[in-house]
Amino acid sequence: MKAITVEPGRSGSMRVEEIDDPVPGEGELLVEGLVLGVCGTDRELNAGDYGWAPEGADRLVIGHESLGRVISAPEGSEFQEGDLIVGVVRRPDPEPCQACAHGDFDMCRNGDYRERGIKEIHGFGSQRWVVDQRFAVKVDPELGHGGALLEPASVVAKAWDQVEQVGARAWFGPATAVVVGAGPIGLLASLIGVQKGLDVHVVDRVEEGLKPDLIAQLGATYHSADVGEVLDRVRPDVVIETTGAEPVLAAVLARTRPYAIVCLLGMGVTREPSSVPLASTGRDMVLNNAVLLGSVNANVRHWEMAAEALAAADKSWLGSLITRTVPLSDLGDAFEPQEDDIKVIVDLQA
Ligand SMILES: [Zn+2]
Ligand SMILES: [Zn+2]
Repeated sequence: MKAITVEPGRSGSMRVEEIDDPVPGEGELLVEGLVLGVCGTDRELNAGDYGWAPEGADRLVIGHESLGRVISAPEGSEFQEGDLIVGVVRRPDPEPCQACAHGDFDMCRNGDYRERGIKEIHGFGSQRWVVDQRFAVKVDPELGHGGALLEPASVVAKAWDQVEQVGARAWFGPATAVVVGAGPIGLLASLIGVQKGLDVHVVDRVEEGLKPDLIAQLGATYHSADVGEVLDRVRPDVVIETTGAEPVLAAVLARTRPYAIVCLLGMGVTREPSSVPLASTGRDMVLNNAVLLGSVNANVRHWEMAAEALAAADKSWLGSLITRTVPLSDLGDAFEPQEDDIKVIVDLQA
């Protein structure tokens, strides 16, 4: 079978190669890989900036945004042949820390967790793959290829869950949210925010096209404007920041509101020292009981929340988030960003 592999640490090492078909072990599902979502992490893997091969191997099968169809399941399994599923990405550390031991492997304390397609375990970027059924999640068959959005949706479902749990430390009745960035994470964060009944406002740079249309279709409000101006106008209870851009972070931090929760999901790089006045920012946070919350990854519970959120969403809206489907034979094209891309997926059987 064909698989997408990289040599971690070596730039441009990605290739499609023939490898042995996987053999399911005890408690594992054998799965036909249908499509694979591509994101910034995969580009970093291809650039040699990130990633670890399994012990004893030189190359890593990449791919963490999976969608597959079950070929065979162990006897007595809740899964059966033909089920559409996705595979959970992270696995607890082999000698689990307390968080991993309690199933909260997204909150791993020692950093020894492993991740399929990223860190020490082969991913889902192959025509067949196996997955421990405890780390498989069923996908509503009506979603079609939109099921590949479950991985990014799990990250967002966790973020909203974190916001709600932090909010629950005192009375919490959020009415408005600002989502910064209308990429796949921002769009899915907006979807879940709307599903929760919030008045959602989305800020992004683009002025027209698919992103504003998709936000309007959700019943949310799109702003192509300065983030600070939007925050001043909307005065949100929740901010979900997906860009990691320094000017955005500065604008958000300068506008703390009483009991507001800012959840950071974006990862940026510092290009020049920022002029955020930390002491007065800290003082404002104290006086407002404000929370700045970072969130990454997702555990099985969040994957199930995400599956419910996608099952409840408009299927054609979700389908519109997938702007290109590239056959495996033209894999390189999936890694060449195009202007109107939102989510690019690879058809593993084409
Ligand atoms: Zn990803
Ligand atoms: Zn751990």
